[in-house]
Amino acid sequence: MDIQIRNIHKQFAGFPALDDVSLAVGSGELIALLGPSGSGKTTLLRIIAGLEFPDRGQILFGGEDMSRRAVRERNIGFVFQHYALFKHMTVLDNIAFGLTVRRRALRPAPAAIRAKALELLELVQLGGLEQRYPHQLSGGQKQRVALARALAIDPRVLLLDEPFGALDAKVRKDLRRWLRELHQQTGYTTVFVTHDQEEALELADRVVIMNRGRIEQVGTVDDVYETPRTPFVFDFLGDSNVLDAEVRGRELRLPGAGEALVTDSIHPAGPVDLYVRPGDLRLAEPGRAGIDVRVTEVQRTGPIVRASADLVANGSVVSIELPHLHHDAPAFRVGAQLRLRMMQFSVYPAARGSQTGPTQTPAREREPGQRGRG
Ligand code: ADP
Ligand code: MG
Repeated sequence: MDIQIRNIHKQFAGFPALDDVSLAVGSGELIALLGPSGSGKTTLLRIIAGLEFPDRGQILFGGEDMSRRAVRERNIGFVFQHYALFKHMTVLDNIAFGLTVRRRALRPAPAAIRAKALELLELVQLGGLEQRYPHQLSGGQKQRVALARALAIDPRVLLLDEPFGALDAKVRKDLRRWLRELHQQTGYTTVFVTHDQEEALELADRVVIMNRGRIEQVGTVDDVYETPRTPFVFDFLGDSNVLDAEVRGRELRLPGAGEALVTDSIHPAGPVDLYVRPGDLRLAEPGRAGIDVRVTEVQRTGPIVRASADLVANGSVVSIELPHLHHDAPAFRVGAQLRLRMMQFSVYPAARGSQTGPTQTPAREREPGQRGRG
């Protein structure tokens, strides 16, 4: 069942929790809403579910307008971060709950309900645990029961709000993979909310990056990671260095640094912000191509070497992450004068001088970032 979200606005006490949000979720797709705390993810999910109503805008399931329909009529499977299992019911009764409370005309016979619940228990790989009570399960097992319960009603749409958020890192990773496989088997249209980039990128077909009640970018993992449209998206998806740069004619350069980084910039002349990930920087011997830097710090952490360096031209500090192979380079030590190379970076209109900083640039001034290669 596909979902159309059209121009949703929602305010709480004058504060815009959602500001003109539109999104299309394909039938059978697993899409992740990703964003920092307070960005509006839960509000959007609750509006899709019918637990909350928008001030303006529309929600359609399979082309049918659901905007004014009550939560019961939407036939939604919902899983929250905090397991809302019924403590006094067995696992089997928890899973069967949504079917047992149906109106008599729609309720399957008891034997059919039991069979369905047992089948779902197998699906979530908890076969044999049907007589346990919630307190006899681990956190991960409880969330799998919650998911089985959500699936019991054959929902049109499955909504998961940080379902693994309260679990420890190892269990989360396992459940993430498991959910991905389960989705491939079952094919429910699924909206998954998380504030964890890694979780979103590993799990979802597409990710929706939210910030302050707005959608910053929607795309596949490759889209958002390789072509972050805004500084916010760049920053949110990983570590970043932000450097003052400028475009003159069509040449992009760092102030004071000799060679141009790009000679065919798509940006208008003037100041720009250059965003580059520590892992996209390399160090080379003096005399090779690159920007002059002085190494100020070298720290080895497992397979990766982290370093800091100052740009000789203007003192800007950059963080660098190198695969440890490079550590063998004889000149790579504190105090060394080396050349810095940027394997890839993004360029955005400068936020300098504005009070709000790059993540809050008004939407209208944003442009698609230029992705450079060095
Ligand atoms: P997220 O799930 O991304 O952390 P939420 O959707 O929960 O964000 O919240 C978005 C914004 O709306 C936040 O600033 C939050 O404080 C506010 N908000 C959410 N629900 C309510 C509510 N019922 N009453 C008032 N403010 C709310
Ligand atoms: Mg939330």
